[in-house]
Amino acid sequence: MQAFDYFAPTSVDQAIAMLAQHKGRGVPLAGGTDLLPQLKNKLATPAALIDLKKLSSLRGISYDASSGLRIGAMTTHSDILANRDIAGHYPVLSQAAGTIGSVQVRNRGTVGGNLCHAVPSADMAPPLIALGATAVIQGSAGQRELLLEDFFTGPNQTVLKDDELLVALKVPPAAQRSAAIFLKHGVRKAMEIAIVCVASCVSFQDGVCAGARITLGAVAPTPLRARQAESLLSGKALTQDLAAQAGTAAAQEARPITDMRGSIEYRRAIVQALTSRTLMQAAALAR
Ligand SMILES: Cc1cc2nc3c(=O)[nH]c(=O)nc-3n(C[C@H](O)[C@H](O)[C@H](O)COP(=O)(O)OP(=O)(O)OC[C@H]3O[C@@H](n4cnc5c(N)ncnc54)[C@H](O)[C@@H]3O)c2cc1C
Repeated sequence: MQAFDYFAPTSVDQAIAMLAQHKGRGVPLAGGTDLLPQLKNKLATPAALIDLKKLSSLRGISYDASSGLRIGAMTTHSDILANRDIAGHYPVLSQAAGTIGSVQVRNRGTVGGNLCHAVPSADMAPPLIALGATAVIQGSAGQRELLLEDFFTGPNQTVLKDDELLVALKVPPAAQRSAAIFLKHGVRKAMEIAIVCVASCVSFQDGVCAGARITLGAVAPTPLRARQAESLLSGKALTQDLAAQAGTAAAQEARPITDMRGSIEYRRAIVQALTSRTLMQAAALAR
């Protein structure tokens, strides 16, 4: 491993000042489950690690019925799994967090690290995007917020500037008669990186679909909203046939690659199946 300096700031402002001082050569360290293998394999060679673990304000979950959910970036996947507000109001986040790695990885890995590492298969991105989450970002110039779906710019790339941290995720209150489901496809029962994952959130009014957000993971350079599939559902009763049509549309919108874990054709077939299943399961839950 290449030598680096190590800093453990005790405030967010101090961490941001350290990032600014290192001009892109300083890297935030959260749980380290993505970053440490990168350091060991020399895929990342930072001059300094800025450890965020002492920033207790970045870890935690709060919920309010009128404003929704706030999850600090340093919140671990295990924290998400143990939280009753999430289990009660946003169970799709528990579903996704429960599929990540192993107990050890979930105890250490954070939601912020999962999103900022920005691999196309990051499991927390599709459910958060399907719920309409906003990213709260803080840097030398102050705080800004943007929709999480606009946070990713490419594999391992985000809108974050060198001196910016992701500090939290905000999720709006769930709409009446709405539900969301996350499904992940892999060939192993545990420690599996998604070959495809899909999160669908649907809301209903007077028996028909009033809105849908379908987000695909691991089938494009960034998490992808399947907007044509979503638009097929609007104002219609969500039947098995319509869900299958939406699945077909989503498969066409996906931009997968062939790699050691699956071909383009295989991934499109899985997108079709998972989209259709997430929609039908979400519809059943919303009822
Ligand atoms: C064995 C194993 C299994 C895994 N299984 C899965 C899986 O099933 N699904 C899945 O999605 N992932 C999986 N992962 C990947 C990883 O565990 C998760 O992505 C985890 O959430 C990363 O979080 P972390 O806190 O460890 O991030 P770190 O490794 O600390 O950081 C990751 C990146 O994000 C940056 N960063 C972290 N926090 C911030 C912040 N607040 N602001 C700005 N930048 C920040 C870091 O600089 C670094 O570039 C697995 C990893 C391992 C080792």
